[in-house]
Formats: sequence, C-alpha cells, structure tokens
Amino acid sequence: MSAYEIVPLRALSDNYVWTIRDARCAAVVDPGDARPVIDYLEREKLELVAILNTHHHADHVGGNRGLLARWKAPVFGPHDERIAEVTQRLKDGERCTLPHFGIEFGVLEIPAHTRSHIAFHGGGMVFSGDTLFAVGCGRLFEGTPKQMHESLSRLMQLPDDTRVYCGHEYTVSNIRFARAVEPDNAALRELEARAKKLRDQDLPTLPSTIAQEKATNPFVRVREPAVVAAASKHAGKPLADPVSVLGEIREWKNSF
Ligand SMILES: [Zn+2]
Repeated sequence: MSAYEIVPLRALSDNYVWTIRDARCAAVVDPGDARPVIDYLEREKLELVAILNTHHHADHVGGNRGLLARWKAPVFGPHDERIAEVTQRLKDGERCTLPHFGIEFGVLEIPAHTRSHIAFHGGGMVFSGDTLFAVGCGRLFEGTPKQMHESLSRLMQLPDDTRVYCGHEYTVSNIRFARAVEPDNAALRELEARAKKLRDQDLPTLPSTIAQEKATNPFVRVREPAVVAAASKHAGKPLADPVSVLGEIREWKNSF
C-alpha cells in the first residue's frame, strides 16, 4: 500500500469531498460538485482512480458525471438505482479495494437518513456520509429513530481511534445543540473551544474519532442519564428506552 493523505475539498455550501491522495492519484468520497474536484486534481496533476458514494443525495453524488466525463474510474456505492453512475454496488459486510492505493474498505449498511445509506471503513478511517456527524446525526428522511439508533450503534463498534470523516461541516452548531441537552458535559465544553478556534481560522473541525463521538454526541449517548433526563423533560414524560430518547432529541434538534 502506498503512503497517502486525506484532503478535504469544499463543495457547495458546507459539504466536504474527502480526497484520498498520494503524489500521482486520488480517490474521492461523495463529490457533490465536480468543479472543485477537477480544479484540485488538475492543479495537483492527479489522476482520479475511484469515486465512493455513501448515499444518493445530490450534494453527495452531483459531481459523479462531471468527473467521469474527465476520467474513467469505478464508482463504489449502495444498491440504489437513484445513483445511476455506480459501477460496483455493495451490500453490508462486502468489501472493496481502492485501485492504486490498495486500501481495503468494509461496507456497513446504515439506513435512516436514507434507506440505502452505507459507510466505508478501513485503514483506521470511516466515511460516514450524513448518518454520523461530529456531535450529531443526519435527519431521518427515509428511516426511523430505531434505524438511526441501530446504525449509530454499529458505527460505535468500530475501534475508538477510528477517524470519522463525515459529509458536512456542522460541528459548531451541533455542539450548540448538544450543550443544550448536556450542559454539564466537560468533553463537550472542551471540544467547543477547539472547534470554534479552528472555524475562526477557517479550518475543518474534522475528522472526529469514534472515541470523541462517544464522549460528546447526544445521539450516541442515548443511555446516559443526563441525556435521558433532558429528553424526558423536553417530551414532558419519562422516556425509558434509547430509541425513544433518540427520537425525542432528533425532533428537538429539528426545531432548535
Ligand atoms: Zn444527505
């Protein structure tokens, strides 16, 4: 396997196109827009060797066609005809190997934000799309609180030091909500200071890690007494199970 680095390319308003690159080649995750990717690859004289798609939303796949018009590359993605460009459709537990880089990714089906959303994990990284964000989770467009709870729980089984590359720069606003849920969480307070400093310098707050999410993300902390209490207070009734807690704080956040 060659040495590589992960570079965030900004696209649209707050998307990141995570780019795996070395001196010669690049693979991109969720290119919502082709333009910034083509500009970067041409400037750096890199050849595109693969596209990975986590889910069908336009801000994650809208750049596929423009990139494929310029380079010939395989597209790894879910079983969902709404992404026409996918050349290798992947199911839960299947693996794929990035051409050139030789990085092997396992696939996790993590439905809830969309019904066919997948994550790619390998090389100490996970590309979590719009399911797991730093200190947050995606909206439930095509799934239920139960599915989101199960999907997040699966991601939390990855090793604690796994770096989490998600689809959007939402961290600071996610922290604002998380602090309303858990005002006494010291890890959250520390992260807020760090994240704000990074954003003031116009730097990404990502990647996160699985350990950081376990310490700060209210949507994965649905068994923590403080989170259960805050969700129950917001609901106006005691919430006994993690799925109800997740459902309540997801609705709470929608109107926060
Ligand atoms: Zn999405």
